[in-house]
Amino acid sequence: MIARAVSLAAALLVVSAAPASAAFTPGSDGAGDPFFPQAGNGGYDVSHYSLKLDYEPQNEQLAGDVTITARATQDLSSFNLDLRGFNVDGVTVNGSAASFTRKGQELTITPAAGLPNGGEFSVRVVYDGHANYVLDPDHSKDGWIPTDDGAFVVNEPQGSPTWFPANDTPKDFATYEFAITVPEGKTAIANGVLVSQTDNGDTTTWRWREDRPMVTYLSTATNGVFELRTDTLPGGLPEYNAVDPNTRRFGRKNPEPELAWSRLEVQPEALKFLSKLYGPYPFDSVGAIVDYAPNVFYSLESMTKPNYWVIPSQLTIVHELAHQWFGDAVVLERWPDMWLNEGFATWSEWIWTEKHGGPSAHDQFEQLYAAAEDSAAGQDLWFPAPNALADASELFHTPVYDRGAMTLQALRQKLGEATFLEIVRSWYAENRFSNVTTGDFVALAERVSGQQLDQFFQAWLFQEGRPESW
Ligand SMILES: [Zn+2]
Repeated sequence: MIARAVSLAAALLVVSAAPASAAFTPGSDGAGDPFFPQAGNGGYDVSHYSLKLDYEPQNEQLAGDVTITARATQDLSSFNLDLRGFNVDGVTVNGSAASFTRKGQELTITPAAGLPNGGEFSVRVVYDGHANYVLDPDHSKDGWIPTDDGAFVVNEPQGSPTWFPANDTPKDFATYEFAITVPEGKTAIANGVLVSQTDNGDTTTWRWREDRPMVTYLSTATNGVFELRTDTLPGGLPEYNAVDPNTRRFGRKNPEPELAWSRLEVQPEALKFLSKLYGPYPFDSVGAIVDYAPNVFYSLESMTKPNYWVIPSQLTIVHELAHQWFGDAVVLERWPDMWLNEGFATWSEWIWTEKHGGPSAHDQFEQLYAAAEDSAAGQDLWFPAPNALADASELFHTPVYDRGAMTLQALRQKLGEATFLEIVRSWYAENRFSNVTTGDFVALAERVSGQQLDQFFQAWLFQEGRPESW
């Protein structure tokens, strides 16, 4: 219905005078992030991704048929998607063939007619080829990462275009549906709820859908040999846990899937704890994917189903679940503000430990604070300042996590428990499903506390070296 209105509007523009069509201009080829300027694009806003994927793990071949529903935010003569590798077999816009060019991660699409500002349009991209992960500036693998039986699919910060054409920016929220076809006997796991599982003979198609707004880097389509268990938590929340029977602890030789299952038992309690602390869980399903991806070296808070590369500790499960509030629901606008994700998730580990018989968050703070600037631990912790990273290679450095968590603990000690909790709860309640910056957090903390906190945040977030007064 909306697409028909758009093509009518486009047709009207075609017959109108030449100067009007001259106002149609190309969308920007980047969303302007300081660390990843080419990631994301301008001129439109995606509302929905429909991803049909067919994966042959034995030769790492991925075939995709993706339809994106979007709305133009300017009069567009052409627009870009991000896609790395693959042969693009065809592109249509509103059902009509569109021309396209490729350069690096940019797929530039020129529709037959301009797309008017405010109008909804659909773009379909059909592609296939070898799936190649991307190597990040910190040398970690990101995107579609082959495993011995499938692929471990994690996208922070720039992996999504290694498996689907995307507006790859944390500023664009959309709903998703997935139809992932894998060889018979394998399981494909994506975000949200399981819609169906279709036996095609030699292959199986797994359909999932995520109806809550999600940004690209939190999507997943991890696949391989898994045992998938579905449960319903008290309150009716569906829980999907997938464990690779071959999974093991880091550095161990023997698979221990039963250990993985027992570690995941913390999930319902952690959800309850975090919901009470921060506010209601943001999504309509929950779960975990415990794979064996020994060449990855990190776990990731993919929305509704964190991806674990080996058997996680229960504290790691708490960390990734805390990200569902801070990172996945409250989403950073710029990558340099990464401490807003990792500082909150790390502090969540500390408060969980404090309330479960371990050292207090204050103790953890004091222990870290004791690291002298000129010690190896101090060099690692105090440099760079968590919100003054030089470039993307520092995104996951220690200060982003530990000094980020210390910032929150220092704020808790400065303002007192009640005010601090009001700040973190308001942070979540006011910013769920939207983008935030460090400036937003500082403003909220000042508003709630009634205090001027510039010096405090300057010392903790922006000045390198150990803060001496705040
Ligand atoms: Zn994290």
